[in-house]
Amino acid sequence: MGHAAYAEMVNRLRAHQASLDTSDLRWRREQLRVMRDMIVEQEERIFDALHADLRKCRVECHLTETGFVLGELSHALAQMERWSRPLRTPTPIYLQPAGSRVVWEPLGVALIIGTWNYPFQLVMAPLVPAIAAGNAAVLKPSEMAPATSAVIGELVPQYLDPDVVAVVEGGVPETTALLEQRFNRIFFTGSTRVGRIVMQAAARHLTPVTLELGGKSPCIVDGSARVELAARRIANGKFATAGQTCVAADYVLVQREIADEFVGAVADAIRQFYGPDPQESPDYARIIDRHHHRRLDELLEDGEAAVGGAHNESDLYVAPTVLRGVDDGSTVMQEEIFGPILPVVDATDAEEALAFVNERPRPLALYLFAEDDEVVERVTHATRAGGMCVNETVMHLPVPGLPFGGVGQSGMGTYHGEWGFREFSNPRAVLDHGTRFDLSLRYPPYSERDESLLRRMRG
Ligand code: NAD
Repeated sequence: MGHAAYAEMVNRLRAHQASLDTSDLRWRREQLRVMRDMIVEQEERIFDALHADLRKCRVECHLTETGFVLGELSHALAQMERWSRPLRTPTPIYLQPAGSRVVWEPLGVALIIGTWNYPFQLVMAPLVPAIAAGNAAVLKPSEMAPATSAVIGELVPQYLDPDVVAVVEGGVPETTALLEQRFNRIFFTGSTRVGRIVMQAAARHLTPVTLELGGKSPCIVDGSARVELAARRIANGKFATAGQTCVAADYVLVQREIADEFVGAVADAIRQFYGPDPQESPDYARIIDRHHHRRLDELLEDGEAAVGGAHNESDLYVAPTVLRGVDDGSTVMQEEIFGPILPVVDATDAEEALAFVNERPRPLALYLFAEDDEVVERVTHATRAGGMCVNETVMHLPVPGLPFGGVGQSGMGTYHGEWGFREFSNPRAVLDHGTRFDLSLRYPPYSERDESLLRRMRG
């Protein structure tokens, strides 16, 4: 598709979207229901595609891809009427009689660019609030997960209204051409590097952007933590999808006295989850491609593998690995790992861990394992992060009332549930001033008495 064809596609979506009554929720509901039917009826095909791209197992596919989007859909269908209601707010006395409200207005046409690690979820989950808020959208799935991209490219036009949602498959040239078009929101999930390219392109049209980026999400294990439980939950969040999860714990800062016990407990958890040889486990995913496999091979050199360490390029396999003895300045401690390698670093206490975290860019997620409430309070308020879990990792994502997004270098803007609805809406301010009465004080010429009365009215 060339530039003219993209322009024609966006114009067609915009013209249709603009023709719809902004208060009409029926077509939005209809599209969301059809999307639900698509996922329910075609779930096996979606699973097959995800298996082909990442060798994800069925339960993981359901939990983190199809089931996740179904959860967002049910929540939106149940709540969108409430979300769409105008938000009333008091009007100052000198403007009475009047009513003030916020009306949630659709933005227009959204561009949703996804990445490959959750290739279905990361384009379909943002589509839910885009439609719930009354927008049209262009989806650009990741070319690095070609089977899932092809399934999205085939199923979406088959189920959803082509005047509301279009799919463009492709890589850098296609995304670059799309970014030349004028959209009303660009919702991008991917790397910080490409996030900058997207934001620059958006600046040309002054298009607002949501950037769901990555980075190094730290995990602090305090001396008061329940070590075995912490190890199990951290390993579960880290090694699902072979560590290729934006919110996976990137590294662990563990209180020195319990470090060995913790590493032993992570080894036990890996054995329980994936058996003696994870390469043989049907539940353990693969690395997306050879480039990333080589990148991870090199990161393995940055420490000693206390657990795992095996890798096999022809099978795109990297074992669930715990690295010890890593240097702060090494690549594995400087760049986002995005793979099944977990550096475990000793810290004297929570204060030292806090200082370590705060010296680095604000992460997408921060995890803390502690039973001591004072430590929980201290870490919660003395750090900055897009999201946080206490005694858990990753599981803040499926809670529909919690906003999901980054801060600083890990991104901007939020979605999931009502937060997504608002992200894809313009909060239009509407003041409806009554006409029965017109306060003369507000009009010139002004007297001293007018001024004093106006001041008193302001309170
Ligand atoms: P990426 O940034 O290379 O690609 C993402 C999308 O951008 C793809 O659709 C791709 O086609 C497009 N793209 C790539 N290069 C481009 C260019 N030069 N111009 C225009 N478009 C381009 O993705 P990646 O680095 O492989 O993804 C991994 C990153 O994504 C990690 O940093 C991870 O943490 C992050 N991530 C974040 C979230 C989140 O929700 N915050 C979720 C998943 C992944």
